[in-house]
Amino acid sequence: MTKEIESSLAEVNQKIRGALARSDTPDRAVNLVLVSKVFPAATVEAAIRAGHRRFGENRVQEAQEKWPPLREKYDGLHVSLIGPLQSNKVRDAVALFDCIQTVDRKKIARRIAMAMQESGRSPELFIQVNTGGEAQKAGVLPGDLPGLLDYCRRDQGLAIAGLMCIPPVDEEASLHFALLRKLAREAGLERLSMGMSSDYELAVEMGATDVRVGRAVFGPRPS
Ligand SMILES: *Cc1c(COP(=O)(O)O)cnc(C)c1O
Repeated sequence: MTKEIESSLAEVNQKIRGALARSDTPDRAVNLVLVSKVFPAATVEAAIRAGHRRFGENRVQEAQEKWPPLREKYDGLHVSLIGPLQSNKVRDAVALFDCIQTVDRKKIARRIAMAMQESGRSPELFIQVNTGGEAQKAGVLPGDLPGLLDYCRRDQGLAIAGLMCIPPVDEEASLHFALLRKLAREAGLERLSMGMSSDYELAVEMGATDVRVGRAVFGPRPS
């Protein structure tokens, strides 16, 4: 397993470098966030042993079980929350994660600010944008982004690093990546978390600074 993960990780990193070279800002850094949700700690460890340190999880509780033991064993791990955040899980999320990519409403922003004050921790924060306006999907609607950003920055004193999106499955991802980039530029934000296994190269070509890739490195998720 370790060998396979090592070689698929190298391949994905190689493709990211190629896509970066083709983009209009080839000198920026691109973070590969390996999405380890559902995979057991043993699978994650294969990637850690191959030298990778940056991971993403979509559930607070699963991450709480998986990551503290790994942090005991390995230095320099960076774990992002990429799934929806409920207000009753905010304190746990702030305690555990190095980055929260799914801030999408005022109540969550307020709770995060409180939890950061209490704990003295300050994870990086991204706002998730529902670029497709899908009813079932988390994220702030593009039109409501300026108000939420203002609230985070001015009312709650939160530094926002960038924007994140998950395009609708049945639409051209490039339209959503372009929209996210435009919104970030208008808001003066540098980081763009976009692109998954099926479209991370396109996302990097279009300006992503953070791609979230699971299956392309770990293979199909266990059900
Ligand atoms: C699962 C997940 C990913 C990774 O998806 P793959 O298709 O395995 O690359 C990326 N982003 C989010 C928000 C996810 O939930």
